[in-house]
Amino acid sequence: MNRLIFIPIRNTNNTACAIRVSALGAAMITSLMCLQLAFSTATFAANDTSTKKSFELQAGYKQEIQKIKSDEKVSKALAYVATVVERAERELIEITEIPAPPFKETARAQRFAEMLREAGLTDVVIDEAGNVVGRRAGTLGKRTVAYSGHLDTVFPEGTDVTVKYRDGKMYAPGIGDNARGLIAVLDVLRGIQHAKIKTEADILIIGNVGEEGLGDLRGVKHLFREGASKIDSLIAIDGGNAQRIVYGGVGSHRYKVTFKGPGGHSWGHFGLPNPHHALGRAINNFAKTAPQVLSSGSKTSYSVGRIGGGTSINSIAFESWMEVDMRSGDQTKLDEIDKVFQAAVQQALDQENKAKLGGDDLTVDIERVGKRPAAQGNKNAALVQRAIAATLAMGVEPSLAIASTDANLPISIGIPAVTMSRGGISGRAHALDEWWQDENAYVSVQIGILTLLAEAGLAD
Ligand SMILES: [Zn+2]
Repeated sequence: MNRLIFIPIRNTNNTACAIRVSALGAAMITSLMCLQLAFSTATFAANDTSTKKSFELQAGYKQEIQKIKSDEKVSKALAYVATVVERAERELIEITEIPAPPFKETARAQRFAEMLREAGLTDVVIDEAGNVVGRRAGTLGKRTVAYSGHLDTVFPEGTDVTVKYRDGKMYAPGIGDNARGLIAVLDVLRGIQHAKIKTEADILIIGNVGEEGLGDLRGVKHLFREGASKIDSLIAIDGGNAQRIVYGGVGSHRYKVTFKGPGGHSWGHFGLPNPHHALGRAINNFAKTAPQVLSSGSKTSYSVGRIGGGTSINSIAFESWMEVDMRSGDQTKLDEIDKVFQAAVQQALDQENKAKLGGDDLTVDIERVGKRPAAQGNKNAALVQRAIAATLAMGVEPSLAIASTDANLPISIGIPAVTMSRGGISGRAHALDEWWQDENAYVSVQIGILTLLAEAGLAD
């Protein structure tokens, strides 16, 4: 039997985490208790974002943005995007209702490619990874600036993605994260198309795959792979708050751990090593030793996200598995907690094999299912400064943060990147009752236009 248990974890985004438990046995309960112990003993705000309010804006970037903002064509673009809110809402519904589960973004990609063509781009392709890439040629074309939103959602196939209106809000899984992001990208393009703005650099308008979960940034990894055509900087649109500028990347290491053994009858074969018991021990060991890594330095987090396995209540399982996520903005801390985790699993294997009364030993398989590099951001980098200046120019006080987004990858290899807001207000991201509300969402589009034009260079 499969049961979906929602363990609500309060955090600043008000998101919840779901743990699917099959064959809920005693070992599983132990594991869950360990998990809760881990949550209660570790000091953390269960969000992957740490907000730092302090930033300094260099005068040159403030002037640059003011100059761009007062340009006649740019003013026209800024005014235009404030008038298309009804169409944006219709298109948000359309995009949201095209399911885009992890690794199954094709249908949404095709529609997004069409929308880019409708907006006037002639050079639009879907690349080998499934990314939609539309090129808007610049007057010089010596540099290329990418402007992207991710296509994928966290929701599996079969999830009801119908948009419903309630209390002035729009509800649907994935509506904010990141269907609205795609609409914001589209509206930025429409704004500069409408006003016939020319830029010096080429602009790539992108709907990329694989941002969420086990997608493991495969879309941007493909775009920035060795041998790919050069992208000089990336502005990714993801995240709800208009103030938020993500300038650095929280890295993550993710594993699927599977303990395996002979399995058997719970009475008849009692004494065989039990994979579930080993898993419970591993979580317990990890929950005990992980907090020492958290006691100093950058914020670091760890979480057992899913556990499963087992045959029936009266069987000794032949396998037991868990998926584990560890994060930090500092690669050294991430490597440190990874080591502690590996040791906890090995220790659990030894403990369970020592405790057995007979039969073959258990084995353990630790499979890496995700690796996002931690990326040290720089608030004084030109692109970050432009994002700050553009945000201030539209009357919004910026808030600089680090998080785990598509920008991680380029930042980690020295390519300027930021992640900025899709606009509006939203809540319950990654939950079935996710919602989005259009509260001056066009302001984020205007901020996006100014940032993109500053980065790509306004041509005469
Ligand atoms: Zn997202």
